Order: sequence, then structure tokens, then C-alpha cells
Amino acid sequence: MTQLTLALSKGRIFDDTLPLLRAAGIEVLEDPEKTRKLILPTNQPDVRVVLVRASDVPTYVQFGGADVGVAGLDVVLEHELGPYGGGEGGASLLRPIDLGIARCRLSVATRADFDYAAAVRQGARIRVATKYTQLARQHFADKGVHVDLIKLYGSMELAPLTGLADAIVDLVSTGSTLKANHLVEVEDILPVSAHLVVNPGAAKLKRVRLQPLMDAFRRALAAST
Ligand code: ADP
Ligand code: MG
Repeated sequence: MTQLTLALSKGRIFDDTLPLLRAAGIEVLEDPEKTRKLILPTNQPDVRVVLVRASDVPTYVQFGGADVGVAGLDVVLEHELGPYGGGEGGASLLRPIDLGIARCRLSVATRADFDYAAAVRQGARIRVATKYTQLARQHFADKGVHVDLIKLYGSMELAPLTGLADAIVDLVSTGSTLKANHLVEVEDILPVSAHLVVNPGAAKLKRVRLQPLMDAFRRALAAST
């Protein structure tokens, strides 16, 4: 029997993927918030879920630690632009379905008293803190804006408040986190939702098992819109 391994991250991606799995007849048998296990069985003996960090999902899928995964477009594109990515040669992962879940956007935000438009107009060097250094580099290069990028792993909102940076590139959904920290969104970079990502080899070798899963996802998405 062909084993199918699905990489998910805990939290909103896991929670929002569960209904789609259910529509495909797959029930995850343990709750990731209650177990310390990293490999979760499902009611389908040939399907298991592995829990990884959100930004590790593309790496697991690309190198075959998982056959498929669910990851935000932010994470997928950052991966493709990074050292493991397909670069100019094309994608290292297949991305067959936009699942429409975990929707948010990647944006530039600054302190309310920082005049971003003026800084851009004057050609000033802007210090930008972000977890998304590749996407940020590409965005500002496309705009012809000079930036010094500072890599952070979390709490990006703190950077402009402490003087570490003039701006951040981060995910925004409602904007309430920015607001609570007196930051304003000054530019939209990318609309984000979570996508199904597939290992290209698995797409061929496990097509018989993968196809019904993808068909069920597509039917569930069509039914919910
Ligand atoms: P982590 O903190 O480990 O990155 P999250 O659950 O916060 O995990 O984020 C996982 C993915 O969910 C992100 O890569 C993004 O695609 C999406 N996401 C992040 N923040 C939000 C948000 N506020 N609203 C909706 N989706 C989000
Ligand atoms: Mg988070």
C-alpha cells in the first residue's frame, strides 16, 4: 500500500485544513494541541499527518519528508526565492490548489509618524525588518527602493517602535495588531492564502492516491463558494 504523508503546521493551517480532509474522508485521530506526537495517524491506514513549523512545510515536501503539505503563499514564495527554491529554473514544488484558507496579506507597515512616501520619493535608504527577506528584497527591488533588510524571526511590530527599523514587512489580516502597536499599513505586497503543495516525484508516483484527495478538495472548495 502506498503511504501518503501530509505536512501541516499547528494552529490556523491545521484547523482550516481539517474540514477539507474530512470532505476527502480523512479524519485525523489526534489533536495536535493535546498530544506531543509529531506524527498523527488518520482513519485512513495509508495516510498520516506530520506536524512541522509553518515555514518548514515547503522544505519537507520538496525533499520528500512529506508528499504533500499545506502552506501559506507567503511561505511558499519565500521558499522558492531562497536557497532551496527553483529560482529561474522553475518551481521546486507543485502548487495545484489554492485552498483559500488562512487568508491575509503581506504588507509594508511603519510608525504613523514615519513618512514612507516621502522617504521613497527622496530615494532614502529605508531600514526594513522582516521574516520575509526574499519577498521583501524582490518587492523593493521591483520598486527601485533602496533598503537595508534586517532578518527577524517574530514580533516584527516591535522593530519600528524600538528604532531597530523604519518599516516592517509582515502579514496583516484585520490590522488590529498593527493598530495596537501604533503602526500603519503603507503598502500591500501580496494577497495570501494557503495552498496545497506537492512533491513533483510524488505527484507522478503516487498519482493514484493523490488524485482522489485533490478531487475531493476541489469539490469541497467549489461547494463552499
Ligand atoms: P507561525 O506563527 O508558525 O508562522 P501561523 O499560524 O501564525 O504560524 O501562520 C501560518 C500561516 O498562516 C502563515 O504563513 C500565513 O500564510 C497564515 N497567516 C498568518 N497570520 C495570519 C493571520 N493573521 N490571518 C490569517 N492567516 C494568517
Ligand atoms: Mg504567527
